[in-house]
Amino acid sequence: MESANRVDFVSVVVPVYNESGCLDELLSRTLAVLDEIGRRFEFILVDDGSSDDSAEKIVRAAEARPDQVVAVILNRNYGQHNAIMAGFSLVRGDLVVTMDADLQNPPEEIPNLIAAAEKGNDVVGTIRQNRRDTFFRRYASKVVNCAARAATGVMMNDYGCMLRAYRRGVVDAMLQCHERSTFIPVLGNGFARRTTEIPVAHAARTVGDSKYSLWKLINLQFNLLTCMTTLPLRILTYFGLGAGLFGFLLSLYIIVRRLCPGGDTWGNAGVFTLFAVTFILVGIQMIGIGVIGEYIGRIYTDVRARPRFFIEKIVGRKNA
Ligand code: UDP
Ligand code: MG
Repeated sequence: MESANRVDFVSVVVPVYNESGCLDELLSRTLAVLDEIGRRFEFILVDDGSSDDSAEKIVRAAEARPDQVVAVILNRNYGQHNAIMAGFSLVRGDLVVTMDADLQNPPEEIPNLIAAAEKGNDVVGTIRQNRRDTFFRRYASKVVNCAARAATGVMMNDYGCMLRAYRRGVVDAMLQCHERSTFIPVLGNGFARRTTEIPVAHAARTVGDSKYSLWKLINLQFNLLTCMTTLPLRILTYFGLGAGLFGFLLSLYIIVRRLCPGGDTWGNAGVFTLFAVTFILVGIQMIGIGVIGEYIGRIYTDVRARPRFFIEKIVGRKNA
């Protein structure tokens, strides 16, 4: 049992987008950890169309250690999750660790992830201890986590933390998913038999800014919601049913009141009730159209079936 779970080869995948300031420390600290773990490893850095000199730095690192460091340069910015997918398409290890480039999650935690995976877990999630992010960023994650828990039914406390480990089989399964907008931690959980979560340290970002603007975050929430479930559509149906029933009962009541003595004057005032009801119904319809549009948008992008990423070049692997 124990030996079947042993991890011989570890792949670390890191998406990089304008992280020039962090890269030197990222490389030295991560390689120091990986050199110590006593297993084969590869460190795959995916440049997600950076406009600074991140790509050059990554290529130089791969040239310096071609056996262990792999530089993957995408031709433009495809987003964090697509960049990780690009890295996944090249992994050779039994265990794949994902991590952010900004060192908010210390690479020193990698051995703990490996240990947790060797206990027989297919996915190892992490819970950030005393999280060092802005209030807004933390609040946004809370909403995402709740939505993810409700929709997947997999109890994980922190979906936002990208310091995670996946067994190779889970990664292979994820690569088979051809939808365009994915949220990797949620997708991965869908293919795991056993999952666990371990506490990890969290540091504040020391160099550069978060690459997620409010706008990107809102888009991410939409992706997360629609990539997992069609529940919003169903809730909408229930909502519509309830509203319809309410409207029906209200109109019955209005008719009865109108027929009662003194209903004349009351009926006039009731016009405004009808206005209110109409507005509510129009509102529901608009929301409905919006949500349906969201799914149609997904169908549209998936039907186009464009490749999720294009790799421009790979440095550091002889037969790639
Ligand atoms: N990232 C990326 N492409 C993007 C945005 C971000 O590859 O379009 C990378 C970024 O370089 C970092 C990771 O995704 O390694 C997480 O980004 P960031 O630290 O800005 O997000 P936050 O910590 O605020 O969630
Ligand atoms: Mg970060």
